[in-house]
Amino acid sequence: ANALFSSLGTTIFETMSRLAQEHGAVNLGQGFPEDLEPPAVLEAAARHVLQGPHQYPSMMGIPALRQAVAAANKRFYGLDVDWQTEVMVTSGATEALADCLFGLIEPGDEVVLIEPLYDSYLPIVKRAGGVPKLVRLQPPRWDLPREDLAAAFSDRTKLIMLNSPMNPCAKVFDEDELAFIADLLQRHDAYAVCDEVYEHLTFDGRRHVPLMTLPGMRERCVRIGSAGKTFSVTSWKVGYITAPPHLLGPIAKTHQFLTFTTPTGLQAAVAEGLGMEDAYFEGLARDMQARRDHLADGLRGIGFEVLDCAGTYFLTTDVRPLGWTGTDADFCLHLTTKAGVAAVPVSAFFAGEADRHFVRFCFAKNDAALDEALSRLSAHF
Ligand code: PMP
Ligand code: GLN
Repeated sequence: ANALFSSLGTTIFETMSRLAQEHGAVNLGQGFPEDLEPPAVLEAAARHVLQGPHQYPSMMGIPALRQAVAAANKRFYGLDVDWQTEVMVTSGATEALADCLFGLIEPGDEVVLIEPLYDSYLPIVKRAGGVPKLVRLQPPRWDLPREDLAAAFSDRTKLIMLNSPMNPCAKVFDEDELAFIADLLQRHDAYAVCDEVYEHLTFDGRRHVPLMTLPGMRERCVRIGSAGKTFSVTSWKVGYITAPPHLLGPIAKTHQFLTFTTPTGLQAAVAEGLGMEDAYFEGLARDMQARRDHLADGLRGIGFEVLDCAGTYFLTTDVRPLGWTGTDADFCLHLTTKAGVAAVPVSAFFAGEADRHFVRFCFAKNDAALDEALSRLSAHF
């Protein structure tokens, strides 16, 4: 038999977090928040886990959470969503992405991907038999090269993966860019899988606009959200998909064979969370923006060039002004083992050769962690 079992590599987040732990480094690599979990949501989880029920819930998710997701779509974006036919709960956005790709792609279908891209997209597209068509944003402002994007579409295009707000480069697609994408989808009769896990993390008064809200897009878009990001509980792995029935059907077919369900008590707690007042969601963005500014100011003071950050947990920096002439991967290795601060090389978010001077830092940490990281960095450089 063929001895090769899997061509899949190890995710950069696991690699860097393990290295950070080994070296006692402050972990600004893997994206997870600190000290932001809303107490009401934690308390709801405890209550619901004690109460039960403890057996398999509906594979589509518990009604309370599906109703809460539909209501959030209305409240934040004015979308009318039928919770019974258009919402499904998943075990994190990671599962939602895999459900969408395995459910919607047939071998040979082309999939448009925008680089830098979140690390699970490409491996899953390939395993699903999709043919990736890659388009690169142009640094340092991560502009969308419209001609390249148009050229990536063909009559074999099945869908585009759109991540906004975007990990790792912290770009939030504006309405003009979204309208350009919407036009391509219509012209090529294609669909969009919209990874919107950072939907509530936009800064400086910017609003997140789902592609689904643009004219003609309601029937062509799948929207993915994550309680991990919205309630700062990344271990819970509760995600949710909003999609028209003709797309949710095939996506649900995959879900039944990947996880089938998600823990009931956590679903119930997230349902309560989605019902919290606007002040919670606004406060989360405000808090995260303050953390962004804290880290950005500190890094600039040390000599990093800090790129624009419109949303997410992440700051991208250019490390050349520090005099670094090696690769971003070596920089991160050096930083973790010698300076005691872990970060992630941005070239890990590209399929092929890429610029090698951008490094991503996660700022979703408490003040003590950010201060400790900054003081270690200033002592080092
Ligand atoms: N998409 C993006 C862009 C992400 O950054 C992440 C993880 N942080 C995910 C999906 C996965 O989300 P989850 O933890 O809910 O699986
Ligand atoms: N999304 C997080 C990041 O970008 C990590 C998620 C993971 O480790 N799988 O760092």
